[in-house]
Amino acid sequence: MASNPVTAMKASLVSCHDCHLVSKVSRSHSNASMVCSRCGATLHQRKPNSISRTWALVLAAYVLYIPANVLPITTVISLGKEQSDTIMSGVMYFIATGMWPIAAIIFIASVFVPLVKLLILSFLLITVQRKSHWRPRERTQLYRIVEVVGRWSMLDIYVVTILVALVKLGALATIDAGPGAVYFAAVVVTTIFAAESFDPRLIWDAMEKNHAGTKPGNSSSS
Ligand SMILES: [Zn+2]
Repeated sequence: MASNPVTAMKASLVSCHDCHLVSKVSRSHSNASMVCSRCGATLHQRKPNSISRTWALVLAAYVLYIPANVLPITTVISLGKEQSDTIMSGVMYFIATGMWPIAAIIFIASVFVPLVKLLILSFLLITVQRKSHWRPRERTQLYRIVEVVGRWSMLDIYVVTILVALVKLGALATIDAGPGAVYFAAVVVTTIFAAESFDPRLIWDAMEKNHAGTKPGNSSSS
């Protein structure tokens, strides 16, 4: 790593989030009211309120994660008999019937990955808040993983897998998505928004302030 890299922030430049035009930050209105001269979008050197916004979404996702796993994700009515399954009871069903690869896929996609994503985001938030210098490169990679996994988490497919396979259906069965499915979708969406709100440049800001030591006090809050 270069010991003292030039960043846009240090050079008083800011990139437009929408059209990526680079503009010069004038000292007079350092933060609040800058707009892009080309497309008119509001300019920010860092995503505004990134930490508190991401925390709010992460905590919301933790809360939603509980009903997503406790409430039934499918309700099957077959010959007047009603059966509800949570994600875990579905996983247990597949293990019991020897279809453990499907059980593993559902467990990893629906229980393990969503929780790991939330834990990684919490970890990144805590280290940024503590201005940690610990392995910034690896932490940035962690963030990238969360972002990529979020974009590719095809939850529909796994839910449909549960729906279809759990029932092995007699034609007389009706399947409804249980309330757990709604919470489950909410966890996935909330986590994607949380990852989007987090600004990974904050990881590096702590490093640079240490190296340079030239930043005036008033910029520490930006
Ligand atoms: Zn623009």
